[in-house]
Amino acid sequence: MSKQLAIPRFSVGVGDRFAHQAKAQLAACLRAAEAGVDVIPVWNKSHREHTIIGSEPSQTRAAADAAVNALGWERLYFVDADHISLTTVERFVEPCDFFTLDVAEEIGKPARPEEVEAFLSDHPELRGSVSIPRIDAPISTDAAFVRGVANKFLDAVREAGRIYRLLVERKGEGNFVPEISMDETDLPQTPVELLIILAAIADERIPIQTIAPKFTGRFNKGVDYVGDVAQFAKEFEEDLATIEFAVKRYGLPQNLKLSVHSGSDKFSIYKAIHDAVVKFNAGVHVKTAGTTWLEEMIGLAEAGGGGLEIAKEVYREAYAHSEELCKPYATVIDIHQDRLPSPEAVQAWTSEQFTSALRHDQSHPAYNPSFRQLLHVGFKVAARMGDRYLRALEDHHEIVSHNVTANLYERHLRPIFLGT
Ligand SMILES: [Zn+2]
Repeated sequence: MSKQLAIPRFSVGVGDRFAHQAKAQLAACLRAAEAGVDVIPVWNKSHREHTIIGSEPSQTRAAADAAVNALGWERLYFVDADHISLTTVERFVEPCDFFTLDVAEEIGKPARPEEVEAFLSDHPELRGSVSIPRIDAPISTDAAFVRGVANKFLDAVREAGRIYRLLVERKGEGNFVPEISMDETDLPQTPVELLIILAAIADERIPIQTIAPKFTGRFNKGVDYVGDVAQFAKEFEEDLATIEFAVKRYGLPQNLKLSVHSGSDKFSIYKAIHDAVVKFNAGVHVKTAGTTWLEEMIGLAEAGGGGLEIAKEVYREAYAHSEELCKPYATVIDIHQDRLPSPEAVQAWTSEQFTSALRHDQSHPAYNPSFRQLLHVGFKVAARMGDRYLRALEDHHEIVSHNVTANLYERHLRPIFLGT
Protein backbone atom coordinates (compact mmCIF):
# COMPACT_ATOMS: atom_id res chain seq x y z
CA MET A 1 0.00 0.00 0.00
CA SER A 2 1.43 3.31 -1.04
CA LYS A 3 1.46 6.32 1.23
CA GLN A 4 -1.85 8.12 1.38
CA LEU A 5 -1.96 11.88 1.20
CA ALA A 6 -4.45 12.66 3.97
CA ILE A 7 -6.32 15.84 4.68
CA PRO A 8 -6.00 16.81 8.35
CA ARG A 9 -8.92 17.34 10.72
CA PHE A 10 -9.61 21.01 9.97
CA SER A 11 -9.33 22.66 6.61
CA VAL A 12 -10.69 25.72 4.87
CA GLY A 13 -11.35 26.10 1.18
CA VAL A 14 -10.28 29.50 -0.04
CA GLY A 15 -10.89 31.03 -3.43
CA ASP A 16 -8.47 33.44 -5.02
CA ARG A 17 -10.03 34.49 -8.30
CA PHE A 18 -7.18 36.68 -9.54
CA ALA A 19 -4.37 34.70 -7.89
CA HIS A 20 -3.16 37.73 -5.92
CA GLN A 21 -4.30 36.96 -2.35
CA ALA A 22 -2.85 33.55 -1.51
CA LYS A 23 -0.36 35.10 0.91
CA ALA A 24 -3.02 37.16 2.65
CA GLN A 25 -5.21 34.06 2.95
CA LEU A 26 -2.37 31.95 4.28
CA ALA A 27 -1.65 34.69 6.83
CA ALA A 28 -5.13 34.03 8.25
CA CYS A 29 -4.26 30.32 8.68
CA LEU A 30 -1.04 31.38 10.42
CA ARG A 31 -3.08 33.50 12.80
CA ALA A 32 -5.30 30.51 13.55
CA ALA A 33 -2.21 28.40 14.21
CA GLU A 34 -0.90 31.06 16.59
CA ALA A 35 -4.27 31.01 18.34
CA GLY A 36 -3.91 27.26 18.80
CA VAL A 37 -5.76 25.53 15.97
CA ASP A 38 -4.33 24.06 12.79
CA VAL A 39 -6.46 24.91 9.78
CA ILE A 40 -5.08 23.68 6.49
CA PRO A 41 -5.67 25.88 3.45
CA VAL A 42 -7.11 24.35 0.31
CA TRP A 43 -7.15 26.70 -2.66
CA ASN A 44 -10.26 25.93 -4.65
CA LYS A 45 -11.30 27.18 -8.05
CA SER A 46 -13.91 25.54 -10.19
CA HIS A 47 -13.92 24.96 -13.91
CA ARG A 48 -16.68 27.57 -14.15
CA GLU A 49 -14.56 30.23 -12.41
CA HIS A 50 -11.50 29.45 -14.49
CA THR A 51 -13.60 29.71 -17.61
CA ILE A 52 -15.18 33.04 -16.63
CA ILE A 53 -11.82 34.55 -15.69
CA GLY A 54 -9.76 32.93 -18.41
CA SER A 55 -7.28 31.44 -15.96
CA GLU A 56 -5.66 28.03 -15.59
CA PRO A 57 -5.40 25.70 -12.58
CA SER A 58 -1.62 25.84 -12.90
CA GLN A 59 -1.78 29.53 -11.91
CA THR A 60 -3.65 28.64 -8.72
CA ARG A 61 -0.93 26.13 -7.94
CA ALA A 62 1.84 28.64 -8.62
CA ALA A 63 0.20 31.27 -6.38
CA ALA A 64 -0.31 28.74 -3.56
CA ASP A 65 3.28 27.49 -3.75
CA ALA A 66 4.64 31.03 -3.79
CA ALA A 67 2.59 32.01 -0.72
CA VAL A 68 3.70 28.91 1.17
CA ASN A 69 7.34 29.65 0.40
CA ALA A 70 7.07 33.33 1.21
CA LEU A 71 5.48 32.75 4.61
CA GLY A 72 7.38 29.60 5.51
CA TRP A 73 4.21 27.56 6.01
CA GLU A 74 5.33 24.11 7.10
CA ARG A 75 2.01 22.32 7.34
CA LEU A 76 0.13 20.68 4.49
CA TYR A 77 -1.81 22.64 1.90
CA PHE A 78 -3.80 21.63 -1.15
CA VAL A 79 -5.03 22.86 -4.50
CA ASP A 80 -8.59 21.72 -5.20
CA ALA A 81 -10.01 20.90 -8.61
CA ASP A 82 -13.41 22.11 -7.49
CA HIS A 83 -16.53 20.60 -9.04
CA ILE A 84 -14.86 18.77 -11.87
CA SER A 85 -16.35 16.06 -14.04
CA LEU A 86 -14.91 13.59 -16.52
CA THR A 87 -15.15 16.19 -19.28
CA THR A 88 -13.50 19.06 -17.37
CA VAL A 89 -10.85 17.32 -15.28
CA GLU A 90 -7.93 17.32 -17.72
CA ARG A 91 -6.24 20.64 -17.02
CA PHE A 92 -6.59 20.07 -13.26
CA VAL A 93 -4.85 16.70 -13.21
CA GLU A 94 -1.29 17.92 -12.96
CA PRO A 95 -1.52 21.01 -10.69
CA CYS A 96 -4.13 19.72 -8.21
CA ASP A 97 -3.94 17.28 -5.31
CA PHE A 98 -7.51 17.58 -4.04
CA PHE A 99 -10.36 16.67 -6.40
CA THR A 100 -14.01 17.51 -5.85
CA LEU A 101 -15.80 14.99 -8.01
CA ASP A 102 -19.07 16.59 -9.00
CA VAL A 103 -21.67 14.04 -9.94
CA ALA A 104 -24.75 16.22 -9.53
CA GLU A 105 -25.57 15.73 -13.22
CA GLU A 106 -25.91 11.99 -12.72
CA ILE A 107 -28.02 12.19 -9.58
CA GLY A 108 -31.51 11.06 -10.41
CA LYS A 109 -30.59 9.35 -13.66
CA PRO A 110 -32.10 5.89 -13.22
CA ALA A 111 -29.50 3.21 -12.51
CA ARG A 112 -29.51 -0.17 -14.23
CA PRO A 113 -32.14 -2.35 -12.50
CA GLU A 114 -29.73 -5.28 -12.05
CA GLU A 115 -27.23 -2.98 -10.29
CA VAL A 116 -29.93 -1.69 -7.98
CA GLU A 117 -31.00 -5.25 -7.13
CA ALA A 118 -27.38 -6.32 -6.57
CA PHE A 119 -26.90 -3.38 -4.21
CA LEU A 120 -30.03 -4.36 -2.34
CA SER A 121 -28.92 -7.95 -1.83
CA ASP A 122 -25.40 -6.84 -0.82
CA HIS A 123 -26.79 -4.54 1.86
CA PRO A 124 -29.50 -6.21 3.95
CA GLU A 125 -28.30 -4.02 6.87
CA LEU A 126 -29.85 -0.98 5.21
CA ARG A 127 -33.36 -2.40 5.38
CA GLY A 128 -35.68 -2.62 8.35
CA SER A 129 -34.70 -0.81 11.51
CA VAL A 130 -31.40 0.97 10.91
CA SER A 131 -29.67 2.07 14.10
CA ILE A 132 -26.96 4.66 13.78
CA PRO A 133 -25.14 5.22 17.07
CA ARG A 134 -25.64 8.78 18.37
CA ILE A 135 -28.82 9.27 16.36
CA ASP A 136 -31.67 9.09 18.85
CA ALA A 137 -34.21 6.87 17.18
CA PRO A 138 -33.62 3.99 14.77
CA ILE A 139 -34.70 4.80 11.23
CA SER A 140 -37.05 2.37 9.58
CA THR A 141 -36.61 1.65 5.92
CA ASP A 142 -37.88 -0.99 3.54
CA ALA A 143 -36.72 -2.46 0.26
CA ALA A 144 -38.72 0.05 -1.75
CA PHE A 145 -37.05 2.96 0.01
CA VAL A 146 -33.51 1.61 -0.41
CA ARG A 147 -34.30 0.76 -4.03
CA GLY A 148 -35.48 4.33 -4.59
CA VAL A 149 -32.34 5.87 -3.08
CA ALA A 150 -30.05 3.45 -4.89
CA ASN A 151 -31.82 4.18 -8.14
CA LYS A 152 -31.30 7.90 -7.62
CA PHE A 153 -27.63 7.81 -6.59
CA LEU A 154 -25.95 4.66 -7.93
CA ASP A 155 -25.29 6.12 -11.35
CA ALA A 156 -23.68 9.18 -9.76
CA VAL A 157 -21.44 7.01 -7.60
CA ARG A 158 -20.40 4.95 -10.64
CA GLU A 159 -19.49 8.18 -12.43
CA ALA A 160 -17.43 9.29 -9.42
CA GLY A 161 -15.68 5.92 -9.63
CA ARG A 162 -14.79 6.56 -13.27
CA ILE A 163 -13.26 9.94 -12.46
CA TYR A 164 -11.47 8.53 -9.42
CA ARG A 165 -9.92 5.68 -11.41
CA LEU A 166 -8.81 8.05 -14.14
CA LEU A 167 -7.04 10.11 -11.48
CA VAL A 168 -5.41 7.02 -9.96
CA GLU A 169 -4.12 6.11 -13.39
CA ARG A 170 -2.73 9.59 -13.98
CA LYS A 171 -1.52 10.63 -10.51
CA GLY A 172 -1.00 7.34 -8.72
CA GLU A 173 -3.00 5.97 -5.83
CA GLY A 174 -2.69 7.92 -2.61
CA ASN A 175 -1.31 11.03 -4.24
CA PHE A 176 -4.48 13.08 -3.98
CA VAL A 177 -7.49 13.66 -1.76
CA PRO A 178 -10.84 12.72 -3.31
CA GLU A 179 -14.08 14.47 -2.36
CA ILE A 180 -17.54 13.71 -3.71
CA SER A 181 -19.95 16.63 -3.92
CA MET A 182 -23.70 16.31 -4.08
CA ASP A 183 -24.54 19.82 -3.00
CA GLU A 184 -25.62 21.18 -6.34
CA THR A 185 -28.79 19.14 -6.47
CA ASP A 186 -32.44 19.77 -5.66
CA LEU A 187 -33.05 18.23 -2.23
CA PRO A 188 -30.98 17.81 0.94
CA GLN A 189 -29.98 14.22 1.71
CA THR A 190 -31.28 12.66 4.92
CA PRO A 191 -28.85 10.75 7.19
CA VAL A 192 -30.08 7.39 5.96
CA GLU A 193 -29.70 8.50 2.35
CA LEU A 194 -26.19 9.61 3.20
CA LEU A 195 -25.52 6.18 4.72
CA ILE A 196 -26.77 4.45 1.57
CA ILE A 197 -24.61 6.74 -0.58
CA LEU A 198 -21.55 6.03 1.58
CA ALA A 199 -22.18 2.30 1.31
CA ALA A 200 -22.28 2.63 -2.47
CA ILE A 201 -19.10 4.74 -2.47
CA ALA A 202 -17.34 2.08 -0.39
CA ASP A 203 -18.57 -0.60 -2.82
CA GLU A 204 -17.13 1.45 -5.66
CA ARG A 205 -13.82 1.55 -3.72
CA ILE A 206 -13.45 5.31 -3.74
CA PRO A 207 -11.46 6.22 -0.60
CA ILE A 208 -13.17 9.58 -0.18
CA GLN A 209 -11.86 11.83 2.55
CA THR A 210 -14.54 14.49 2.31
CA ILE A 211 -18.16 14.43 1.23
CA ALA A 212 -20.31 17.45 0.47
CA PRO A 213 -23.97 16.68 0.92
CA LYS A 214 -26.66 19.24 0.32
CA PHE A 215 -27.81 20.71 3.59
CA THR A 216 -31.16 22.15 4.48
CA GLY A 217 -31.60 25.89 3.89
CA ARG A 218 -30.27 28.30 1.30
CA PHE A 219 -26.55 28.80 0.72
CA ASN A 220 -26.55 31.90 -1.43
CA LYS A 221 -23.26 33.27 -2.67
CA GLY A 222 -21.48 35.65 -0.35
CA VAL A 223 -24.35 36.28 2.05
CA ASP A 224 -25.53 34.63 5.25
CA TYR A 225 -27.42 31.37 5.57
CA VAL A 226 -31.17 31.52 5.03
CA GLY A 227 -33.02 28.78 6.85
CA ASP A 228 -33.72 27.15 10.15
CA VAL A 229 -30.44 27.13 12.11
CA ALA A 230 -31.71 24.62 14.69
CA GLN A 231 -32.77 22.25 11.92
CA PHE A 232 -29.38 22.68 10.24
CA ALA A 233 -27.60 21.93 13.53
CA LYS A 234 -29.64 18.76 14.01
CA GLU A 235 -29.00 17.52 10.48
CA PHE A 236 -25.33 18.41 10.69
CA GLU A 237 -24.92 16.35 13.86
CA GLU A 238 -26.81 13.46 12.31
CA ASP A 239 -24.53 13.60 9.30
CA LEU A 240 -21.49 13.46 11.60
CA ALA A 241 -22.97 10.44 13.36
CA THR A 242 -23.66 8.79 10.02
CA ILE A 243 -20.11 9.36 8.80
CA GLU A 244 -18.62 8.03 12.03
CA PHE A 245 -20.74 4.91 11.66
CA ALA A 246 -20.10 4.45 7.93
CA VAL A 247 -16.31 4.69 8.41
CA LYS A 248 -16.44 1.71 10.78
CA ARG A 249 -19.13 -0.25 8.99
CA TYR A 250 -17.82 0.11 5.43
CA GLY A 251 -14.11 0.64 5.98
CA LEU A 252 -13.99 4.14 4.54
CA PRO A 253 -10.95 6.31 5.37
CA GLN A 254 -10.64 7.20 9.06
CA ASN A 255 -10.33 10.89 8.29
CA LEU A 256 -13.52 11.07 6.22
CA LYS A 257 -15.27 14.31 7.07
CA LEU A 258 -18.03 16.61 5.93
CA SER A 259 -17.30 19.31 3.43
CA VAL A 260 -19.54 22.35 3.65
CA HIS A 261 -19.81 24.12 0.32
CA SER A 262 -20.78 27.27 2.05
CA GLY A 263 -20.86 29.75 -0.80
CA SER A 264 -18.96 31.90 1.75
CA ASP A 265 -20.09 33.83 4.78
CA LYS A 266 -22.63 31.52 6.44
CA PHE A 267 -22.06 33.23 9.75
CA SER A 268 -25.24 32.10 11.46
CA ILE A 269 -24.39 28.40 11.19
CA TYR A 270 -20.70 28.66 12.12
CA LYS A 271 -21.41 28.17 15.81
CA ALA A 272 -23.48 25.06 15.10
CA ILE A 273 -20.65 23.66 12.98
CA HIS A 274 -18.07 24.44 15.65
CA ASP A 275 -20.11 22.94 18.48
CA ALA A 276 -20.93 19.79 16.50
CA VAL A 277 -17.36 19.01 15.47
CA VAL A 278 -16.22 19.50 19.07
CA LYS A 279 -19.01 17.27 20.35
CA PHE A 280 -18.22 14.50 17.85
CA ASN A 281 -14.47 15.05 17.86
CA ALA A 282 -14.92 15.23 14.10
CA GLY A 283 -13.17 17.09 11.34
CA VAL A 284 -14.68 19.48 8.85
CA HIS A 285 -13.79 21.18 5.60
CA VAL A 286 -15.49 24.50 4.99
CA LYS A 287 -15.29 25.75 1.46
CA THR A 288 -15.50 29.47 0.87
CA ALA A 289 -14.84 31.23 -2.40
CA GLY A 290 -15.99 34.69 -3.41
CA THR A 291 -15.52 36.29 -0.02
CA THR A 292 -11.90 37.12 -0.88
CA TRP A 293 -12.81 38.70 -4.19
CA LEU A 294 -15.24 40.96 -2.32
CA GLU A 295 -12.47 41.93 0.09
CA GLU A 296 -10.46 43.01 -2.93
CA MET A 297 -13.34 45.30 -3.85
CA ILE A 298 -13.56 46.57 -0.27
CA GLY A 299 -9.81 47.21 -0.10
CA LEU A 300 -9.81 49.08 -3.40
CA ALA A 301 -12.80 51.18 -2.34
CA GLU A 302 -11.22 51.90 1.01
CA ALA A 303 -8.03 53.05 -0.70
CA GLY A 304 -9.97 55.88 -2.36
CA GLY A 305 -8.74 57.62 -5.51
CA GLY A 306 -8.08 55.25 -8.40
CA GLY A 307 -8.93 52.23 -6.25
CA LEU A 308 -12.38 53.56 -5.46
CA GLU A 309 -12.87 54.46 -9.14
CA ILE A 310 -12.15 50.85 -10.14
CA ALA A 311 -14.61 49.54 -7.56
CA LYS A 312 -17.29 51.92 -8.87
CA GLU A 313 -16.56 50.90 -12.44
CA VAL A 314 -16.97 47.23 -11.55
CA TYR A 315 -20.35 48.02 -10.02
CA ARG A 316 -21.45 50.13 -12.97
CA GLU A 317 -20.59 47.37 -15.45
CA ALA A 318 -22.03 44.64 -13.25
CA TYR A 319 -25.25 46.63 -13.02
CA ALA A 320 -25.38 47.06 -16.78
CA HIS A 321 -24.76 43.36 -17.42
CA SER A 322 -26.48 41.92 -14.38
CA GLU A 323 -28.63 39.48 -16.33
CA GLU A 324 -25.65 37.86 -18.04
CA LEU A 325 -23.57 37.79 -14.83
CA CYS A 326 -26.31 36.35 -12.66
CA LYS A 327 -27.38 33.64 -15.08
CA PRO A 328 -24.79 30.96 -14.16
CA TYR A 329 -25.56 31.58 -10.48
CA ALA A 330 -29.35 31.91 -10.73
CA THR A 331 -30.08 29.21 -8.14
CA VAL A 332 -27.65 30.57 -5.54
CA ILE A 333 -28.33 34.30 -5.49
CA ASP A 334 -31.33 36.39 -4.46
CA ILE A 335 -30.86 39.92 -5.70
CA HIS A 336 -33.68 42.42 -5.23
CA GLN A 337 -33.43 44.74 -8.21
CA ASP A 338 -35.29 47.48 -6.38
CA ARG A 339 -32.65 47.50 -3.63
CA LEU A 340 -29.74 48.01 -5.97
CA PRO A 341 -28.46 51.58 -5.90
CA SER A 342 -28.20 53.19 -9.32
CA PRO A 343 -24.66 53.43 -10.73
CA GLU A 344 -25.14 57.23 -10.78
CA ALA A 345 -25.81 57.24 -7.04
CA VAL A 346 -22.82 54.98 -6.41
CA GLN A 347 -20.63 57.25 -8.54
CA ALA A 348 -21.08 59.94 -5.88
CA TRP A 349 -20.26 57.62 -2.96
CA THR A 350 -17.33 58.07 -0.61
CA SER A 351 -15.06 55.16 0.31
CA GLU A 352 -16.97 54.77 3.54
CA GLN A 353 -20.36 54.59 1.77
CA PHE A 354 -19.08 51.96 -0.67
CA THR A 355 -17.40 49.76 1.92
CA SER A 356 -20.25 49.89 4.41
CA ALA A 357 -22.77 48.84 1.76
CA LEU A 358 -20.50 45.99 0.72
CA ARG A 359 -18.75 44.75 3.84
CA HIS A 360 -20.52 41.78 5.41
CA ASP A 361 -21.44 43.45 8.67
CA GLN A 362 -25.12 42.75 9.17
CA SER A 363 -25.32 45.14 12.11
CA HIS A 364 -24.37 48.09 9.90
CA PRO A 365 -27.48 49.94 8.71
CA ALA A 366 -25.94 50.59 5.26
CA TYR A 367 -25.10 46.92 4.57
CA ASN A 368 -26.85 45.94 1.34
CA PRO A 369 -27.00 42.21 0.51
CA SER A 370 -28.29 42.83 -3.02
CA PHE A 371 -25.37 45.15 -3.74
CA ARG A 372 -23.01 42.56 -2.27
CA GLN A 373 -24.43 39.68 -4.30
CA LEU A 374 -24.29 41.58 -7.56
CA LEU A 375 -20.65 42.42 -6.95
CA HIS A 376 -20.08 38.81 -5.91
CA VAL A 377 -20.94 37.63 -9.42
CA GLY A 378 -19.31 40.72 -10.93
CA PHE A 379 -15.78 39.34 -10.98
CA LYS A 380 -16.14 38.79 -14.70
CA VAL A 381 -16.10 42.58 -15.10
CA ALA A 382 -12.75 42.78 -13.32
CA ALA A 383 -11.49 39.90 -15.45
CA ARG A 384 -12.36 41.92 -18.56
CA MET A 385 -10.39 44.89 -17.22
CA GLY A 386 -7.34 42.64 -17.36
CA ASP A 387 -4.07 44.26 -16.37
CA ARG A 388 -5.75 47.45 -15.27
CA TYR A 389 -7.49 45.54 -12.47
CA LEU A 390 -4.38 43.58 -11.51
CA ARG A 391 -2.32 46.79 -11.38
CA ALA A 392 -4.88 48.33 -9.02
CA LEU A 393 -4.57 45.27 -6.77
CA GLU A 394 -0.81 45.68 -6.78
CA ASP A 395 -0.95 49.44 -6.20
CA HIS A 396 -3.20 48.94 -3.17
CA HIS A 397 -1.73 45.66 -2.11
CA GLU A 398 -1.37 46.53 1.56
CA ILE A 399 -4.91 47.69 2.25
CA VAL A 400 -6.40 44.86 0.18
CA SER A 401 -4.43 42.12 1.89
CA HIS A 402 -5.24 43.56 5.29
CA ASN A 403 -8.95 43.19 4.49
CA VAL A 404 -8.50 39.69 3.04
CA THR A 405 -6.66 38.38 6.11
CA ALA A 406 -8.92 40.05 8.66
CA ASN A 407 -12.07 38.82 6.92
CA LEU A 408 -10.88 35.23 6.63
CA TYR A 409 -9.55 35.02 10.15
CA GLU A 410 -12.05 37.05 12.14
CA ARG A 411 -15.27 36.26 10.30
CA HIS A 412 -14.56 32.68 9.27
CA LEU A 413 -11.68 30.77 10.89
CA ARG A 414 -12.21 32.09 14.39
CA PRO A 415 -15.93 31.30 14.71
CA ILE A 416 -15.71 27.97 12.88
CA PHE A 417 -12.54 26.51 14.33
CA LEU A 418 -11.95 28.38 17.58
CA GLY A 419 -15.58 28.99 18.47
CA THR A 420 -15.00 32.61 19.39
ZN1 LIG B 1 -20.23 23.06 -4.22
